[in-house]
Amino acid sequence: MLASFVVETGFVPSGTWKGNMDVKLLYHTPDPERAVAAAARLCYAPVGAAELVESMSEEAVRKVLKTVISSGHLSTLEHASYTFAIDGVSRALTHQLVRHRLASFNQQSQRYVRYDAEPVMIEPPSVAADASAHEIFAAASAAAFEAYGKLLEAGVPAEDARYLLPNAMETKIVVTMNIRELLHFFELRCCKRAQWEIRDLALRMLELAESTAPYIFLDAGAACRRGACSEGKMTCGDPYPKAPKRD
Ligand SMILES: Cc1cc2nc3c(=O)[nH]c(=O)nc-3n(C[C@H](O)[C@H](O)[C@H](O)COP(=O)(O)OP(=O)(O)OC[C@H]3O[C@@H](n4cnc5c(N)ncnc54)[C@H](O)[C@@H]3O)c2cc1C
Repeated sequence: MLASFVVETGFVPSGTWKGNMDVKLLYHTPDPERAVAAAARLCYAPVGAAELVESMSEEAVRKVLKTVISSGHLSTLEHASYTFAIDGVSRALTHQLVRHRLASFNQQSQRYVRYDAEPVMIEPPSVAADASAHEIFAAASAAAFEAYGKLLEAGVPAEDARYLLPNAMETKIVVTMNIRELLHFFELRCCKRAQWEIRDLALRMLELAESTAPYIFLDAGAACRRGACSEGKMTCGDPYPKAPKRD
């Protein structure tokens, strides 16, 4: 049984702020480890990938995966993709998420969706934990939404009225990444130096991906799981436990 990063590190989805994050794995390439292994083995085999998918033993699949991951032959990991439906996150989060250029995205539009009732605002735990900070946050959110409504009433189109909407506003996004990009994303965003909301998202995505391809994702996550911290002087000084080695 392979260790689960999420279990091993004691990660508990926060879910403590208003507008709980909801992350679902909508689709993924069937048998992702076999798909990657067949693509990698093809480079050195006299037969085609279709035959390799059928004929490779489980042991052969793992052996090939171990070789490609340890040797950095990472283009092979691009043959399996994952699509996640992400709801209940802030625009502050999605602004960071869409910086990952090798992923594909579609997001709820503030041009085409008009908000007639006050939308949910994602309240950071640091704000929620402090009564006066919470009051300031709630009042500013309500004022921004009220002003948005007044602009709509005045005939301003939603695409312009939305300029007043805060970063805290809840949104929905769908994202597709191949395994190579997912591993890169997990390295950056599971790191304890990443911002709390996108870190929460990355850990949830890792938990879902790990269940489909445990051998590939065995040591996924922040760089400190595999070796030294990649953050240099900016290190948090609190590394994750080391990941198990691939057998
Ligand atoms: C802790 C943290 C703090 C951050 N702070 C800031 C900040 O203050 N300001 C800011 O603007 N951003 C910030 N970012 C975002 C960061 O700069 C990157 O835009 C984001 O993390 C995406 O990373 P990436 O480019 O490696 O990944 P992706 O876009 O997912 O690309 C994956 C990999 O593909 C390759 N690649 C992709 N596109 C190109 C290209 N055009 N040319 C060559 N190679 C390419 C690179 O090897 C890249 O690492 C921060 C990110 C983190 C994790």
